[in-house]
Amino acid sequence: ANIPSPVVSFAHFGFDERLMKTLRKSEFATPTPIQTQAIPSALSGRDIIGIAKTGSGKTAAFVWPAIVHIMAQDQLQVDDGPIVLICAPTRELAQQIHLECKKYGKPYNINSACAFGGGNMHEQIVACKEGCEILVCTPGRLIDLVKKKGTNLNRVTYLVFDEADRMFDMGFEPQVRSIADHVRPDRQCLLFSATFKKKVERLARDILTDPVRIVQGEVGEANQDILQIVQIMQNGSSKWAWLLSKLVEFTVLGKVLIFVTRKDNCAELAKNLKENGFTAGLIHGDMAQFDRTQVINEFKKRDVPILVATDVAARGLDIPSIRTVVNYDVARDIDTHTHRIGRTGRAGEKGTAYTLLTPADKEFAPNLVRNLENANQVVSDDLFNMAMQ
Ligand code: ADP
Ligand code: MG
Repeated sequence: ANIPSPVVSFAHFGFDERLMKTLRKSEFATPTPIQTQAIPSALSGRDIIGIAKTGSGKTAAFVWPAIVHIMAQDQLQVDDGPIVLICAPTRELAQQIHLECKKYGKPYNINSACAFGGGNMHEQIVACKEGCEILVCTPGRLIDLVKKKGTNLNRVTYLVFDEADRMFDMGFEPQVRSIADHVRPDRQCLLFSATFKKKVERLARDILTDPVRIVQGEVGEANQDILQIVQIMQNGSSKWAWLLSKLVEFTVLGKVLIFVTRKDNCAELAKNLKENGFTAGLIHGDMAQFDRTQVINEFKKRDVPILVATDVAARGLDIPSIRTVVNYDVARDIDTHTHRIGRTGRAGEKGTAYTLLTPADKEFAPNLVRNLENANQVVSDDLFNMAMQ
């Protein structure tokens, strides 16, 4: 499904002046990577699974869109249940999120209540009854509140589970699932976690609908020793011309690994290179293991400086002296891309990875922007524009 493009400046989120004003007071220079990715999707109403290490700005990534979500409601009635329900594993975290909600909600007169185990139940019920568009809670206490009719979940259309992995560690899985079951199925649901364990994955599958997956840190982490360069090209023949003009320079630096998507492209490109005087090997999934091993051995030695490969064949390839990777055809997904470029820059050696993009590959551009940003690489205007299309 379509995933909204990442947004790299606060001005592009489309927030109104009240939110922008509070943001300016916070003196944040730019959105964090998780914010650039999660917020456009959250604003478009999508479910999200967001995995990012602590300190990456996840709270704002769900609080700001929550404010927009509330303001988009037709009418706000007092003395009804919350519209936005945020569950967090601990009292401290719930209070911290509650403070953020109050800060950003204040200019809109959006009220936030906070309920956690160990706090005064009566006071929490009063806070709910006084009207709160946002309720931040720990799972056990929320269930108690609902049972005692201190609040209800009828109006909840934006549901957040923060630090899902910690909720599991604390044994809250049944409560989390029960809460998800009691909120109307057409809600928007956002699930955040610092780690992506099997249990979190299973929960995501059970309670999210066609979620946008945002994973930072574990999967898709790009090596900082790899310089990534993205070249926007008109078509296949411009790719070929570019490769020819660069190959001598690349082979002087070290071995060159060129990725293509299909076996026939692999054979064709290798043949064209040979016709132009280059010594190039090829490797793809249809070749016998014996031949593959031989090709790799030749590539490891000095005699064959260029290898044209499909993804299947390049799995696990560990050749330290690859200095240049060329994604002649763009990878089918970002994990494959990360795997490809990881063939260079190994063991602390510097490597360069070139990715050639044509207009036909523009679906991949937003993924690439994210990948580059995660790796602190420069995103060119060309690439950014393509990603925004
Ligand atoms: P996480 O939930 O991912 O651990 P938090 O939401 O608690 O991270 O944010 C960590 C810190 O970063 C907080 O102090 C927060 O105010 C700050 N922060 C959030 N967004 C930004 C931003 N865009 N730029 C700079 N700091 C930010
Ligand atoms: Mg957090």
